Amino acid sequence: MLRRYPDYFAKEFCQAVSEVLGVPQDWIIVGNGADELLNLLIRAGAEGTDRTVVYPTPTYLYYRRLAAKQPAQVIEVPYPDDFQLPIEAIVRAQGSLTLIASPNSPSAHIVPLEDLRALAGQLSGILVIDEAYVDFSGISALPLLAEFENVILLRTLSKGYSLAGLRIGFGIAHPQLLSGLFKLKDPYNIDAIAMVVGAAAIRDRAYKNACAEKVKASRAQLTTDLRQMGFVVPESHTNFVLATPTASNAEQLYLALKERGILVRYYQQPWLDDKLRITVGTPEQNQILLKELASLCGTLNHNTIIQLSSTD
Ligand SMILES: *Cc1c(COP(=O)(O)O)cnc(C)c1O
Repeated sequence: MLRRYPDYFAKEFCQAVSEVLGVPQDWIIVGNGADELLNLLIRAGAEGTDRTVVYPTPTYLYYRRLAAKQPAQVIEVPYPDDFQLPIEAIVRAQGSLTLIASPNSPSAHIVPLEDLRALAGQLSGILVIDEAYVDFSGISALPLLAEFENVILLRTLSKGYSLAGLRIGFGIAHPQLLSGLFKLKDPYNIDAIAMVVGAAAIRDRAYKNACAEKVKASRAQLTTDLRQMGFVVPESHTNFVLATPTASNAEQLYLALKERGILVRYYQQPWLDDKLRITVGTPEQNQILLKELASLCGTLNHNTIIQLSSTD
């Protein structure tokens, strides 16, 4: 099998997706991770200076990096504090390409289907709905594909299937939209082994669902425990939580955790610089994190009090 070039369309994988999701095979494009498909979409949709790439922020940072390499104008529309989709402002920006991650990272919120439908109906350009975290939310914009020819849905095996090393993502859209992307993609972007492993993973729905349920249960417990420790933690639809410490400094906590071998994400950006993005671990890993946080919050607060009193 490895002596020959793999299939240009990764047909075997498309067939598995088609069976499991009930979409026709020619509505599917397979990428070397969803990132490759984002790259193709942004190259295609942002090639001229008269083009515009639009997305609400904060969101997946790779959108900004990919768009920055293209001549198109980039318009970032900030989410309001309640994370309602700013539909009017996005429509006004008139993107040739508009990107919405749902569930979103790092906010972990979900964009309601009705909002996505309202947006798709008002955009003349292409709407990308990035569902990288869909396996942890169970709510998908898949029904919109039958209604709108300008919508493409992106999925990946990196998150819900725990197969980030395999590098498989896929897009679902009307064949007309896909035909433009096929012209741009490398001929053999999916290797023969990844295709077979990916197809087997897609078909084993029960296993994937069981894994996602474990993450969801662990997420619920972690959310409760962090809230009890005084963190503000909004409901998450992903495999991480975005937690705001109320009595300690987020950056100090991030650095102290790193020193102890626990990696969480800290963003030095407006709105995010007082928060930590914490990936949900196994119950045992979460316990270790919580124990360290409890001791750190205690000492960091203590230090702050000492500093304050010595400068007074
Ligand atoms: C992880 C992620 C991706 C990329 O997934 P790969 O398939 O690993 O390339 C795309 N979009 C979002 C929002 C992600 O979180």
